[in-house]
Amino acid sequence: METLLGHDRTISSALFEEAKKIFPGGVNSPVRAFKSVLGPPIFIKKGDGCHIWDEDDHQYIDFCCSWGPLILGHNNAHIRESIYAAVAEGTSFGAPTRLEIELGRLIVDNHRYIEKLRFVSSGTEAVMSALRLARGATGKSKVIKFEGCYHGHVDSLLVKAGSGLVTFGESTSAGIPEAFAKETIVLPLNDREKLEETLEQEGHNIACIIVEPIPANNGLLLQDPSFLECLRIKAYKHNVLLIFDEVISGFRVGFEGAAGYYGIKPDILTFGKIIGGGMPVGAYGASAELMGHIAPDGPVYQAGTLSGNPVAMAAGYAALKQLLAPGFYETLNAKTAGFVKALQDFADAKGYPVSFPSVGSIFWVAFARERIIAAEQIDPASMNHFKIMHLELLKRGIYMGPSGYEVGFVSSAHIDADLAQAVEAFKEALDIVF
Ligand code: PLP
Repeated sequence: METLLGHDRTISSALFEEAKKIFPGGVNSPVRAFKSVLGPPIFIKKGDGCHIWDEDDHQYIDFCCSWGPLILGHNNAHIRESIYAAVAEGTSFGAPTRLEIELGRLIVDNHRYIEKLRFVSSGTEAVMSALRLARGATGKSKVIKFEGCYHGHVDSLLVKAGSGLVTFGESTSAGIPEAFAKETIVLPLNDREKLEETLEQEGHNIACIIVEPIPANNGLLLQDPSFLECLRIKAYKHNVLLIFDEVISGFRVGFEGAAGYYGIKPDILTFGKIIGGGMPVGAYGASAELMGHIAPDGPVYQAGTLSGNPVAMAAGYAALKQLLAPGFYETLNAKTAGFVKALQDFADAKGYPVSFPSVGSIFWVAFARERIIAAEQIDPASMNHFKIMHLELLKRGIYMGPSGYEVGFVSSAHIDADLAQAVEAFKEALDIVF
């Protein structure tokens, strides 16, 4: 029996040994490998509501929620039934379908900053395509990104790119040609002077500024809205396009994501995660004029065999439709705020150096008391605290993503009793950490 300080992973361990023979590191996405937490990864066999079950039959309250897509929890009945209905008609045609229009129309009609969009199959694809659009539309090539922001595994953006890389001790990937990296200018978040200086010097070569308006891939680095406003103003001033990468924040902090939440209009928006209701969907959207650069209307080529896949479209539609129900976000966000407050009150009463920044239904466990708004403020040594907490939470039936740089998500399926149970588990885990 493979137990780790009281947590039995016999079957997960055996599966991991098998997986390692087939996949690099035994996984199909690096952070799943549990490299920065204790023990082998837990293999999940099913999920329902806010719960997941592993192969060793433990039940957990899930705060990873597939890294964000599952805002309605696992196995949502309406999404499931919509998927079944779509599958019954065929899984892919490589031709237009009515379902694409239904999901597209739902988004365009309910998002003030999107006139047209294009569906792709992942957040990475959305970002990659948005960059190409920005470059094609401006005729310029350089991109400004910010330290700690992750935008998928797009070559030129895997520079100082947050959790997935930082978790393994490097912030930049190997295999990125020097010529690509040179096209990316990396600036610190919240540094207006450096931004202005860079735009003054290089604006004529810069196609776009890309930012996670709610940076949530290197901890939760909540920015002052005035910094986002500054990006908007400076982008206009220097004739540079502003891209909000809303792969996490889109449909999460509100239907209109961070753009709607802060009331700031980016030129291009990218989406993933929630938009597919748990199926692989991404999208990028902009004004009709900008989207007119995309093939076949314009010269910027972008395509996809499975883009707008009918099963995925049906899932996305079923998900987004539920998010439009009156009060959906108010309820979810208030529930999350209450959860986070209970945790913070406990930590404060005990004098523990931990805080729980949050926005909407996103939260982070920061092992520091001061507000953290930039990647370099995070003390790597604090990740040891996360490691211990992660194991203690698993033992108490709470599943968090296996990296202290990752955020947690609350779904509408987390009911008050689940959150109260989770608070007790966190309290016990933090008592052990400190
Ligand atoms: N952009 C952001 C902000 C993300 O958080 C992610 C993934 O976590 C991506 C892009 C890439 O999305 P995907 O993993 O679907 O390719």
